Amino acid sequence: MSDISELYQQVILDHNKKPRNFRKLESANREQEGYNPLCGDQLTLYLEMDGKVIKDIGFQGSGCAISKASASMMTAAVKGKTKDEAEVLFDEFHRMVKGELDPEKEENHLGRLTILSGVREYPARVKCASLSWHTLHAALENKDEAVSTE
Ligand code: ZN
Repeated sequence: MSDISELYQQVILDHNKKPRNFRKLESANREQEGYNPLCGDQLTLYLEMDGKVIKDIGFQGSGCAISKASASMMTAAVKGKTKDEAEVLFDEFHRMVKGELDPEKEENHLGRLTILSGVREYPARVKCASLSWHTLHAALENKDEAVSTE
């Protein structure tokens, strides 16, 4: 096993066991549901927006290890960021897991999120990893409908 895939496994396991921001946010002023019917992942995302800033964020739900770890990492990455900064991360993350952005070669803002680039080797898992990001995107756009990856 290469160092990268070992790191990938460790990070997924760690976030799955101790997900960050895994709670219902009482102060939330936006709430968004997301589903990935292909795998059965489901999550509810809570955002407390202060103008254009994501002041606080939380999520609850159930799903596979990758969906949960990715949601955990997503909340940690966007907390305190502006809507525009979060949208840039959404775009970069989405392109990375689809294999359109190589974080080693292209400039990006992903930081630790690049660990999840390993998911592009597993096409069936791409939707698990991107579910929370699609849900965030919809929450920031203030869409009322539940998000489905299908
Ligand atoms: Zn999944």
